[in-house]
Amino acid sequence: MTGMKGLPRRGKGLRQTRVAVVGGGIMGAMTAAHLLELGAEVTLYDPHALGTGPGASVDSGRSFRVHYGADRGLIAMAVRSHGLWKQWEQRLGRPLLGATGKLLLEAPGDRHAFESWQTLRNMGLRADRLSAGAVAQEWPGFLTGAATVDRMGGVLEPHIILDALRVWLTNQGVHFRGEALDLGPFHVEDVQGARRFDSVVLTAGAWTRRWVDVEMEVTRQELVYFDASSLGDKLKHLPVFSHMESGFYAIPTARDGRIKVANHHPGKVGHPDGDDRKVSPAFEAAARKFLATHLPELEGADVARRYVCFYSGTADRDFILDRTEDGITVGAGFSGHGFKFAPLIGRLLAQLAIGAPGEMDLERFALNRAALKGEPTRLAV
Ligand SMILES: Cc1cc2nc3c(=O)[nH]c(=O)nc-3n(C[C@H](O)[C@H](O)[C@H](O)COP(=O)(O)OP(=O)(O)OC[C@H]3O[C@@H](n4cnc5c(N)ncnc54)[C@H](O)[C@@H]3O)c2cc1C
Repeated sequence: MTGMKGLPRRGKGLRQTRVAVVGGGIMGAMTAAHLLELGAEVTLYDPHALGTGPGASVDSGRSFRVHYGADRGLIAMAVRSHGLWKQWEQRLGRPLLGATGKLLLEAPGDRHAFESWQTLRNMGLRADRLSAGAVAQEWPGFLTGAATVDRMGGVLEPHIILDALRVWLTNQGVHFRGEALDLGPFHVEDVQGARRFDSVVLTAGAWTRRWVDVEMEVTRQELVYFDASSLGDKLKHLPVFSHMESGFYAIPTARDGRIKVANHHPGKVGHPDGDDRKVSPAFEAAARKFLATHLPELEGADVARRYVCFYSGTADRDFILDRTEDGITVGAGFSGHGFKFAPLIGRLLAQLAIGAPGEMDLERFALNRAALKGEPTRLAV
């Protein structure tokens, strides 16, 4: 990781540290919020209002879970993020994390599920291994073999969160600007000209490589939203569920009466710009089959929406949280599982950007780590 340049700090006789954040998805929004907390003056660049553009932080339903196999580092980060989401609920004055639980459907001899359960239990976290009968008792009508339940799991709603953050950031005095046309460690240029900053943070998702050479692959992820309103009240209590081996997962969103089905394994390489966002009939059929296997009463459910979203995947599926040689702070490569960590990532990037003491070692997330060299993005974690 690169060393910190001396930055002016707020204090007697010193002006406020001015920081630009380029990219207003969830990571940019949370970074801006934590920069404010650290006393910076913040300018946030994005051509679209928060949560409305072609980026990855739009749409309904993101799964929150703390199970990560035997990876205690990510589990600890997810637990920390859980606490931070609860703080954000207080701050924004509304519920953000629907506590439905997360069901990990087990294949016979499933090592990941077993390690997840064992590690969570060893860390003192609530996880259960349920037989098929116990699952059906807790969620009537749900069919599966054995399953592991991550009791901290649940659902986050990007559009609700980003909308609330937009209002909050505006009230806190963040300056909103449009598309960045150029940037460097100490400036950002838009149609109104270049502005100088003490520090620049790049959280531009799939657009990151326009400015910084990061080792990540942008992949096309198909999504099908089934109308599940026929389940009535049962939908409210359904957990998020996923099958690690096939990569399929489903996120019930009771608010709009739907269940979103997608596949976590990286899809074909693509880019949000210019994509027709069309879902193939083959994917739709596979998504329906996954849903109907576990919720047979939805076998003939109508499709309410089809969409394509883009992962920015790294070879080891870990994020990139670092500064470039010349000092641009970069948050990228969230590999389809970043949303749940956003409040923590925002803090970490804000600390990096202004040289505040970091609350955790970021070596694992270095830009130039060996694991990123020459490998395509890996299968789901
Ligand atoms: C289909 C799908 C499902 C997912 N499911 C989950 C899940 O269940 N759980 C989970 O934890 N995570 C999930 N994720 C991952 C999570 O959504 C992403 O990690 C997260 O949204 C990434 O946020 P971001 O802010 O880095 O990027 P983005 O949200 O893409 O934001 C980047 C922003 O940069 C802006 N930008 C681009 N160019 C410029 C420019 N020149 N100037 C200014 N701004 C610019 C864009 O407009 C955009 O708003 C999923 C992702 C996808 C795609």
